[in-house]
Amino acid sequence: MTNKYIYFIANWKMFGGLNSLNSLHKVAKFFKNFEKNKYIKIIYCPPSTLIRPMSKKLKNTRIEVGAQNCHENQTSGAFTGSINAKMLKNVGAKYVIIGHSENREAGENNKLINLKIRSALKSGLKVIFCVGETLKEKRKKITKQVLNKQIKSGLDKIKNKNNILIAYEPVWSIGSGLIPKSNELFNIINFIKKKFKNYNVLYGGSVNSKNINELKFIDNIDGFLIGGSSQDPKKFIDIIKKTYN
Ligand code: PEP
Repeated sequence: MTNKYIYFIANWKMFGGLNSLNSLHKVAKFFKNFEKNKYIKIIYCPPSTLIRPMSKKLKNTRIEVGAQNCHENQTSGAFTGSINAKMLKNVGAKYVIIGHSENREAGENNKLINLKIRSALKSGLKVIFCVGETLKEKRKKITKQVLNKQIKSGLDKIKNKNNILIAYEPVWSIGSGLIPKSNELFNIINFIKKKFKNYNVLYGGSVNSKNINELKFIDNIDGFLIGGSSQDPKKFIDIIKKTYN
């Protein structure tokens, strides 16, 4: 993974307050001075409350900011507690994560996810589209069918592929410390790329500064979506450094 364009996307989930922005300068400084920085895209997806202040903090850097979800309606309306893609863009988001398994578990289905993706694209956001099988589905050996259905439905009626990144995140791997075997991961990423051509495909699920030494050799992966390890700038920087070591 030396001379390839790689994404490192930080998903802060429901963690962080204004004081968590204080250490961001460390990542910005590291990135500025890192010799490989022209091959890297760093995107932070904090809780919505931090999008504006984080965008301001990162203004003169190449680090971009994204959101973690959006409402499917492009226009404003009576949806208490919701935020749509236009509103996220208005406060500085360039990307939005859609289809994360934590939201699928909370009731989001493929149809809703498709509506959200379409709304986000229309509003001018790039989409980090998450897919992945549960442990039960893996055991039943239906991972590829599950992914095929999730991706096909999610991308229904979407013509412009340029602004979508697919993030393969096995549900059993998120937050568990477990990652797929290298050959299995290579095969799944290959399957997605063959079936859905011209998409960048990322891996997410328990990426940390140890297992990156293994993951970096899977050369069809276009980057990583990182949850737990992205909240600590030192761990996040370590992951990036080790990817290129
Ligand atoms: C995630 O939430 O997208 C994720 C990959 O989390 P973690 O790295 O903590 O498994």
